[in-house]
Amino acid sequence: MSPEDIDGRTFAEAIEAGPVTVQDYMRFANDAYYNRKDPLGVEGDFITAPEISQVFGEMMGIWLTDIWLRNDRPQRCHYVELGPGRGTLAADALRTMRRFGFEPQVHFVENSVALRALQMQAVPHAIHHAKVASLPDDGPLLVVSNEFFDALPIRQMIKTDAGWRERVVVRDQGARFAPLPGAVATDDLVPSELRVASVGSIFESCPDAESIMHDISWRLSRQGGAILAIDYGYTQSALGSSLQAVKNHGYADPFADVGQCDLTAHVNFSKLAEVAGASGLSVAGPVDQGQWLSALGVRERGEKLIQNHPDRAADIAADVHRLVHPDAMGSLFKVMAAYALAWPTPEGFGA
Ligand code: SAH
Repeated sequence: MSPEDIDGRTFAEAIEAGPVTVQDYMRFANDAYYNRKDPLGVEGDFITAPEISQVFGEMMGIWLTDIWLRNDRPQRCHYVELGPGRGTLAADALRTMRRFGFEPQVHFVENSVALRALQMQAVPHAIHHAKVASLPDDGPLLVVSNEFFDALPIRQMIKTDAGWRERVVVRDQGARFAPLPGAVATDDLVPSELRVASVGSIFESCPDAESIMHDISWRLSRQGGAILAIDYGYTQSALGSSLQAVKNHGYADPFADVGQCDLTAHVNFSKLAEVAGASGLSVAGPVDQGQWLSALGVRERGEKLIQNHPDRAADIAADVHRLVHPDAMGSLFKVMAAYALAWPTPEGFGA
C-alpha cells in the first residue's frame, strides 16, 4: 500500500464498507501520520531519547566502535538505522565514531517522505531505503533502531465464547474495536500456553517486526555484524492489549483523527530474540536502558559535558537522569542486541 492511497477519507471509506483489522488500521494510520509531519520533539507529539540528549547517540557510537575495533576493523562496514526520525541519533553516533577513525557508509531504512528530508539535513551522505531488502550485501551491517519496532502495525486476536477471533475496527455509532464476526477462528495464532483464557482476553503479535527481524538476521548471519534494538516492551509473551494512541505528549483516542496521532504497541523482545536465534545469531539482553547506558559510561560522559558547558549543568544532569533513572525512561525501555556468531560479545549487557 503506497502512502498516497492513505488518508483519512480513504480510510473512512474502507471502514464504512466493512470491518478493518487492527493491523490494517494501524498501518493506515501510522503511514499517514509519519508522512504528514515531523512528530518528534517538544513541539510535536512525543520525544525520544536521542532528542533528549546527545549522550544517547554518543553511547550508541561508543558501542558500535567497540564491536568494530574488537572485530579487527572490517574495511567495508555499513551503519544502518531503522526509522531514524530526525537523524539526530545517527549524527551523534557517527560524530563519535569518526573520532575513533570509524567512518562506515550510512544507510537509512525510512518510508516517511517528511522525515527523509530532515534526515538528509542531519546526515547528508546517507542513502535511503524503503526496505531492508535493498541494503548492501558487500560487508558487515551494524544496525541500530530506537523506537522503531513499536511503530509497526500489530495484529490482535480476541477470545470470544466461540474461541479466538481476529480483532477489528467496526463502525456503528462511531468506530470501535470488536471481534471479527463469523466463524473464522484464529486459535492457531495464539501460543498454546496462552490459548485457555477468559472471554475478552487479547493476544497481540507484530508480523512486520518479525519479518524485518528475520530479514536482518538472515543478512547478519551471512554478512556479519549486529543489530541493537531499543524500545519499550516486554520480555515474555503475555495477554493484553498494549495499543496506544499518543498526541501532544499524552494519550489520545485512537479513533479521533485517523493519522493525526501516533499509534504504538509494546515490543515483544522474546519474539525478536527467537527470530534472531532461528537464523543462528547470538542474542544479548534485553536489559534496561539505564543499565546499558550506565555500563557504557553515560554518567562520565554527562560529567564531561557539564565541565565543558557549566552554564547548562542543571539541564545536562536532568537529561542524563531522565534517560537512566528507573522512574523515568531507564527501565521502561529495553536494549537487546543480536550478532553474528563469529562476532565478539557486545558491551553493556553484563556478564
Ligand atoms: N528513531 C527515531 C524516530 C522514532 S519514530 C528517534 O528515536 O527519535 C519512528 C520512526 O520509524 C520514524 O522515523 C518513522 O517514519 C519510521 N517508520 C515507522 N514505520 C516504518 C516502516 N514501516 N518502515 C520504515 N520506517 C518506518
